[in-house]
Amino acid sequence: MAEKITIDGHCHCGTIAITAQVDPDMVMACHCTDCQTIGGGPYRAVAVSDVADFQITGTPSEYIKVAESGNRRIQAFCGHCGTQLYACDENRQRFNIRTGFLNQSAMLVPKKHIFASSALHWITDIEHTPCFDKGPESAQSQLKQ
Ligand SMILES: [Zn+2]
Ligand SMILES: [Zn+2]
Repeated sequence: MAEKITIDGHCHCGTIAITAQVDPDMVMACHCTDCQTIGGGPYRAVAVSDVADFQITGTPSEYIKVAESGNRRIQAFCGHCGTQLYACDENRQRFNIRTGFLNQSAMLVPKKHIFASSALHWITDIEHTPCFDKGPESAQSQLKQ
């Protein structure tokens, strides 16, 4: 277990802010089809925090996702702007915080990829596809390492 780091971020509209302590060795990316559907993207990455290390301001909206196994998970998001914030158990003890809205997202490198059986084949090949600094009219650039 690595030393915990403090992470923070807020949703796109600023209504909800989260600060937490997470173990950077516990970051993972999930490629399951539920993450693809709910996330609206190819996969979702999370950093894990226990309730004692988790602070939130604002009240997120919640959706209960029932897995094939019957496992129930709260999916929390901003009801105004739709930013996805975290998933947790129904007792709210352990939070899988989505890394996309965190200020430290570049530091939170996934240490494992789960549900790789449903990962989209092209995600490992983006370095061979044209990349642009900003929009498609901007300069072409290399992906940052
Ligand atoms: Zn928001
Ligand atoms: Zn998933």
